[in-house]
Amino acid sequence: MDIQHNINLIHQKIKTACEEARRDQNTVKLLAVSKTKPISAIISAYQAGQTAFGENYVQEGVEKIQYFGSQGINLEWHFIGPLQSNKTRLVAEHFDWMQTLNRAKTADRLNKQRPINKAPLNVLIQVNISDEESKSGIQPEEMLTLAKHIENLPHLCLRGLMAIPAPTDNISEQENAFRKMLSLFEQLKQALPNQQIDTLSMGMTDDMPSAIKCGSTMVRIGTAIFGTRDYSK
Ligand SMILES: *Cc1c(COP(=O)(O)O)cnc(C)c1O
Repeated sequence: MDIQHNINLIHQKIKTACEEARRDQNTVKLLAVSKTKPISAIISAYQAGQTAFGENYVQEGVEKIQYFGSQGINLEWHFIGPLQSNKTRLVAEHFDWMQTLNRAKTADRLNKQRPINKAPLNVLIQVNISDEESKSGIQPEEMLTLAKHIENLPHLCLRGLMAIPAPTDNISEQENAFRKMLSLFEQLKQALPNQQIDTLSMGMTDDMPSAIKCGSTMVRIGTAIFGTRDYSK
């Protein structure tokens, strides 16, 4: 597995997708999704210049964060998994971003538990854009209510929206979901002009070009960087 090579390839693909969409390549940030992958894989990615990483499991993420902290290596950590309300404290204390916020109660807990010596926790609201029962996230109609609630929490900084659309081979269905997200994102920016709303997190290994075409500002890539995941351990 040549992780550095894979990262270079992804940057190439981001560049191509941006050119086709007539967008500046610097408007799309790469988040390397390192869940289930060892520290050594993260080090390889870091050596290729990658500094932002996404983790789905609280305990695993915290262990990695503490390891790199102890080495004096400053990385940016995003929590991107479903979060049980009894696990909010570890996310509030260790991560820089939380991308799967979907309840006012979770927002309140994160706000209360964020250490005051740290910058506010950056948060994204997760929207259930494909109306899948299995996927978490709020319904699009509820997005603004939750956003206005978060706006009043001083230790959270609302940065935008995140979605995991239902996987599909149908490109127009795929782009439909992403376009709906872009329109919600525009709505959010207009409704909260005083917040730093700048992040629309969508696009994974299999749907990245469509996501960029439809306005994504952050792609979350795991498999194309680190290879397939083994959940059996
Ligand atoms: C695992 C995961 C990814 C990465 O998926 P790949 O298909 O491996 O690129 C992105 N986002 C979330 C929320 C994930 O859980």
